[in-house]
Amino acid sequence: MLSNSHDLIDRATVIHQQTDLVAYKDHGGTIIKRGEGVYIYDEQGNKYLEAMAGLWCASLGFSEKRLADVAYKQLLELPYYHTFFAKSHVPSVELADRLLSIAPKGMSKVLFQCSGSEANDAAIKLVWYYNNARGRPEKKKIIGRVRGYHGNTVASVSVSGQPHMHGGFDAPLPMMRHTENPHYYRFHEEGETEEQFSTRMAEALEKLILAEGPETIAAFFAEPVQGGGGAITPPKGYFEKIQPILKKYDILFLADEVICGFGRTGNMWGSETYDLKPDMVSCAKALSAAYQPISALMISEDIYNAMLDQSGKLGTFGHGFTYGGHPVACAVANETLKIYEERNILGHVRQVGPLMQAGLEATEAHPLVGNARGIGLIAGVELMANKEKRIPFAPEAKAGIVVQDEAQKVGLVVRAIGDRIAFTPPLIITAAEIDEMLAKFGKALDAAL
Ligand code: PLP
Repeated sequence: MLSNSHDLIDRATVIHQQTDLVAYKDHGGTIIKRGEGVYIYDEQGNKYLEAMAGLWCASLGFSEKRLADVAYKQLLELPYYHTFFAKSHVPSVELADRLLSIAPKGMSKVLFQCSGSEANDAAIKLVWYYNNARGRPEKKKIIGRVRGYHGNTVASVSVSGQPHMHGGFDAPLPMMRHTENPHYYRFHEEGETEEQFSTRMAEALEKLILAEGPETIAAFFAEPVQGGGGAITPPKGYFEKIQPILKKYDILFLADEVICGFGRTGNMWGSETYDLKPDMVSCAKALSAAYQPISALMISEDIYNAMLDQSGKLGTFGHGFTYGGHPVACAVANETLKIYEERNILGHVRQVGPLMQAGLEATEAHPLVGNARGIGLIAGVELMANKEKRIPFAPEAKAGIVVQDEAQKVGLVVRAIGDRIAFTPPLIITAAEIDEMLAKFGKALDAAL
């Protein structure tokens, strides 16, 4: 089959996710054929440096043979089994043990699912189950943040603060609330320091809790670094000020580590980087380096004990998916975690992360760039129409998309989130590849001028 006929068949048959369907129908897209290291190749043989690791997930790049071998071996030994009805299998047991041994402090049990959305959806269900178990059936609302992202199931997208994912879908669900987006560069007032801004954000959260009635608020969901909102690092003091408020009103804290988990911020967890003390932690993506779909929800012993009580009353714990904790995915995740340790991936991120951050911060000298910030190997570069006055581009200008398209023309995949360009390259990226990435990005910015 000729490669351009793939494009035509694709346009005629596939519903593309998170895509402008009209533009896709008319113009098509790019069909990716293979990967090697931090690079991908399309059907025409064009090579791209993948500075988003796919969807913030291909942490070991696109050609880690050890993961393919482990998957093959597991497929031969036990291609499928489940963890329903008191059954288990070796890869799930081994992964649970390994994951909890490196988990953020306080995590004691793990539920395997297939995606970040499912892990967060399960977290929402467990929060409700927990409060029912405690005899607090009125304590059910969940607070997310504007531009937060937690997934695309009906419940996880409802906690997410992404209006374009709500419109047309009758979302969000009525028990979800959203507090302010702590994007300091964009929303601080003239002269306001990061600490003062964080205090204002914490006050807004407390005001929301009091207006709703603390007895009705069950949980707060937050990513350590907001990914889908634009790769936004928290301002100084933000989580320090937020966490005591959650404790004060008996509100559970879920740290969504789906992007930050496994080294992205330079520590194993974003929770370590920002000193978070969550009651629940969700993770996915780099858990298996994206070679298999798998996620995990980890919870504290307290929550688990309440679940035990409730299950004691109800009999079965009535939650589960056919493929949750699939043995091939668990085996691949196990091997991924071994590779992180053997290759000291955290040490590598700490070494090359500052090169990427310094290079991107230097783009602030470019007339289009208002702000570039990040940590470890995650960063966002914000385009501005008038950076002196912090005036953004009009949405119709699609400035982010213009830069994203120019980058692709020079062989670089980045992602425009509005007018913020996100960077999360594979964690294995080398210093030389970072230089190449920065040079290509510079060319894309110049071309977009
Ligand atoms: N949580 C965060 C922070 C994410 O970035 C994502 C996906 O990008 C999700 C949850 C949803 O994960 P998935 O797409 O695997 O369902």
